[in-house]
Amino acid sequence: MQRHLVGISQIGAVRCHRLIALARAIRQASALPRLDKSVALAFFEPSTRTRLSFEAAATRLGCRVAAFSSAGSSIEKGETVADTIRTLEAIGFDAIVLRHRASDAAEHAASIAKHATIVNAGDGCHEHPTQALLDALTLLDEFGSLEGKRIAIIGDIRHSRVYRSDAALLGMLGAIVGVCAPPLLMPSHLPDGIVQLPDAASAIEWADAAIVLRLQRERMDSGLVPSLSDYRRRYAVRREYLVGSRVRLLHPGPVNPDIELDAVLVESEHSLIQRQVSNGVFIRMAVMIDIFATELVEHFLSH
Ligand code: ASP
Repeated sequence: MQRHLVGISQIGAVRCHRLIALARAIRQASALPRLDKSVALAFFEPSTRTRLSFEAAATRLGCRVAAFSSAGSSIEKGETVADTIRTLEAIGFDAIVLRHRASDAAEHAASIAKHATIVNAGDGCHEHPTQALLDALTLLDEFGSLEGKRIAIIGDIRHSRVYRSDAALLGMLGAIVGVCAPPLLMPSHLPDGIVQLPDAASAIEWADAAIVLRLQRERMDSGLVPSLSDYRRRYAVRREYLVGSRVRLLHPGPVNPDIELDAVLVESEHSLIQRQVSNGVFIRMAVMIDIFATELVEHFLSH
């Protein structure tokens, strides 16, 4: 088994099932182990929930956490991913949670690390595996099984690492994945089995649950969306589409209120967004236990 957590396809179905089951068991557990390891949170891109969630997960398990972001670190002076990984290993960190704007950053870091475990917390437009695991856990809590469930992913598909990880994992769990985006925000290739949906209104009608994505302005070349009002007209999820519907709404955050999603929906009865955030901590605890204390996994799963 590869020790690093780079992407859903690399870790495969068996480990994904095990991490989700482990997160559920940890959520019920009355006592938690103390792992006593050191974890570096190396965030070369901004993040609020992912960074705090990894920090909460690691500290609840008795790990020592050092967090740094690009502002105020040597990354601003041009330090490369490779230098950072070597430095953090030399200091003695046992795991390095990495976020970076380059789409191969996690893979590259994993090829350099000699003993530390690399956990991908989002690399460019490539993958965000713990987000997919927490989305799957949230959907499984809601539906019991995802076999045959229709999950629409709506928004900036092309630039989204969340889409790539979610589509891989939800497909693995038996869901039918649909995507909905303006033509220029669609990737050049969609894997077999993915359904294309023409606009947000039909996506909501089709779906059991919708994962709404942020319009990633920082990754867009200019001109991909003619105007925000054009975008909203066809691709925003609006309150009126949900009248009389039971569709569940997820969003990885941060939400651009009233752009990809009407702000009132964030706290509506359709929304699972807060549950995603809470589940994120349990998924990241599961990741830490799986990395640092494999021998405890069976213990948790048998209780
Ligand atoms: N927080 C998610 C990510 O880091 C989604 C987003 O930024 O739009 O990929």
